[in-house]
Amino acid sequence: MSALAATEPRPEPAETPALSIRDLEAYYRVAHFGIRREVRAVDGITLQVGRNEIYGLAGESSSGKSTLVKTIARAIRPPLFHAGGEVVFDFAGPGRVSVYDVPEEAMRRLRWRHLSYIMQASMSVLNPVRRVRQSFDDFAFRHIGGRRDEFWSLVEQHLERLHLSAAVLDAYPHELSGGMRQRVTIALATICRPDFVIADEPTTALDVVVQKGVLGMIREVQQQMRSSVLFVTHDMAVHANLTDRLGIMYAGRLVEEAPTSALFRGPRHPYTRHLVASLPRIGDRSLRVGLEGRPPSLADPPPGCRFHPRCPLAMPVCAQESPPLDHVAPGHRVACHAVAMGKA
Ligand code: ATP
Ligand code: SF4
Ligand code: MG
Repeated sequence: MSALAATEPRPEPAETPALSIRDLEAYYRVAHFGIRREVRAVDGITLQVGRNEIYGLAGESSSGKSTLVKTIARAIRPPLFHAGGEVVFDFAGPGRVSVYDVPEEAMRRLRWRHLSYIMQASMSVLNPVRRVRQSFDDFAFRHIGGRRDEFWSLVEQHLERLHLSAAVLDAYPHELSGGMRQRVTIALATICRPDFVIADEPTTALDVVVQKGVLGMIREVQQQMRSSVLFVTHDMAVHANLTDRLGIMYAGRLVEEAPTSALFRGPRHPYTRHLVASLPRIGDRSLRVGLEGRPPSLADPPPGCRFHPRCPLAMPVCAQESPPLDHVAPGHRVACHAVAMGKA
């Protein structure tokens, strides 16, 4: 070993990610006119989410965002199946234990306390015929336990954090506005101080002003609790305001990933460039050009790069070989032949 090498500072060991998924695959197995087909909605995704990080997932409708987060949360039921790959949370204990290698009972113990998942169209978590108080009782009390009066004062403090008064506890969900219901859902998902929160389009149905308030609160609660968040929305403007890192999905695959600011400053994948270019900018009156064509059917995706039928830079190799997701800069990965060849 050289003298220089001996005195060189040792690189810090990389922090264990809060979530690490590898080669994850999840398919819907469906029958179409009697013919069995697989819809490959999550087709080989590898990514990591750091501790205390908000990781965003973007991509157009049907790109597989919800299927991916359902698979990560192991909240899947037929016709959706886990077809391969692992999902490892650091809170699940030492060693690489995938959520698919533990009994369902162990998984139930991790839910709410360590992992909470706000599903798309999650109003279903609030039972419409029961007062909000009952939902807190059902979901949170059995994890937090202790004295009842202490539990309710904790709930009230937490609601206050989300700018909600204790009066919401005695309301039925339909008596609350959309914004309030969504904040109640977020309060419910975070009251147990989970290590990891998955939120799927939690603000999409809200108007812009309410949405802004709710996003601010998600950030505030995340910072106070130092939890990790996996945040899904197709709305790139929301990602620009909220997330630390961003993964772009196209047709069941991750096509680009970078720190959010880097991705907006310098998107590399042609699809990401389209997403970023179609964001409205103040003072810019130029006509936005839409992306031609439709996303492919995931039951019969095109060979090679799944974006090739719509890509302005497509080359013959794109229809033959699937591009690997490679680093183009530290922390920036892109799956594109043109980028790898220096043509984009
Ligand atoms: P959105 O932005 O509209 O929420 P998404 O990115 O979350 O879309 P998914 O809901 O994960 O997309 O859907 C991914 C693919 O899986 C789509 O092609 C969809 O048609 C298909 N899919 C979803 N649910 C089912 C189901 N129950 N049976 C068969 N295919 C399904
Ligand atoms: Fe376009 Fe080819 Fe890159 Fe796919 S691999 S995004 S088709 S240039
Ligand atoms: Mg979805």
